[in-house]
Amino acid sequence: MSVDKATGDILEVRQGDITRLEVDAIVNAANSSLLGGGGVDGAIHRAAGKELLAECRSIGGCPVGEARITRGYHLPARYVIHTVGPVYTGTVQDAALLSRCYENSLKLAAQYHLSSIAFPAISCGAYGYPIEKACGIAIDTCRKALDVWPDIHKIIFVLFSDKDHAIYQSALAGGIV
Ligand code: ADP
Repeated sequence: MSVDKATGDILEVRQGDITRLEVDAIVNAANSSLLGGGGVDGAIHRAAGKELLAECRSIGGCPVGEARITRGYHLPARYVIHTVGPVYTGTVQDAALLSRCYENSLKLAAQYHLSSIAFPAISCGAYGYPIEKACGIAIDTCRKALDVWPDIHKIIFVLFSDKDHAIYQSALAGGIV
C-alpha cells in the first residue's frame, strides 16, 4: 500500500483482487453490453452472483466513457459502478475517453453519497491500453475530481499484477504523472 503526496491519504494503491474489497463501490471495467465478460468483469459477476447480471440486463447497455451503477449483491462492496473503457487505438481520443470513465464513475459515487471507491486498471487488460499511460490518466483525473467531489474520502487503485502495482506505486510516490 502507498499513499499520494498531493492528496494525503485519499488516493491509495493496493495489489490484489478488487472483488474482496469492503468499500462503498467497486468499479467494473465492463463492456458496452454490460452483460459480463472476461477479466475483472467476469470476476465481479462471479463474486456478486446472478442477481448482478439480471440488474445489468435491465439497464440495457452503456456507451464508452460513461458509467452506470448497480447494487453489489454478494460482494463485500455495496455498489458496483460499471464503466466502459476505450479499446486502445493509439489516437488522441483514447485518453479523453479513459479520463471520462474515471470522472463519470466518481460523479455517480458522489451522487449516491458514497465515500470510498476502488478502481481496477480500466482498459489495461483485453482492451490493450498501456498501463504506464493509463495510470497517469487515472491518477490525474481522480486528483482533479477530488476538488469537485469533496465527500469522496478514499479512492483505491487495485492492481492485479506485481508489475502494474509497481507502476502505480511509483507514479503516486513521484507525485507527478
Ligand atoms: P479491459 O477490457 O477494460 O481491458 P480487463 O478486465 O481485461 O478489462 O482488464 C483490466 C485490468 O483488470 C487488467 O489490468 C487486469 O489485470 C485487471 N484485473 C483482472 N481481474 C482483476 C481482479 N479480480 N481484481 C483487480 N484487477 C483485476
